[in-house]
Amino acid sequence: MPSDKTPDEIKREYQNTLRKAKVISAITIVPWSFYLYANISDSQTLLGIGKITFLAIASTATIGYTLFWKLAWKCPSCGNFPGGGWSRQSCNSCGVAL
Ligand SMILES: [Zn+2]
Repeated sequence: MPSDKTPDEIKREYQNTLRKAKVISAITIVPWSFYLYANISDSQTLLGIGKITFLAIASTATIGYTLFWKLAWKCPSCGNFPGGGWSRQSCNSCGVAL
C-alpha cells in the first residue's frame, strides 16, 4: 500500500508509536518486578498490596501490551509490523526509513 506521507511525517509517527510502546512496556514490567520480588523475598504483601494483586495487574498489563503490539505497532507507511527493537532505522516490510 503506497503512502503519501512525507519521510518526516513517517519518522515522527513512528517515534510516537515507539514512545507509547516504551510507556506500555514500563507499565507491564513494573508490576511483574514487584510480583517476582514478592516471590523471591517470600512475602505475601509489598507496600501493603497483596502479591496476587500485583499478579492481576501484571497479567492485565501484559494483555494490554500484547494488544498494542498486535494492533498499534505498525509502520506509518505500509501499516505492517516494521520489526522489533527500540532503535529500528527502517521498516522490515517496505524498507522506508523510520
Ligand atoms: Zn513499512
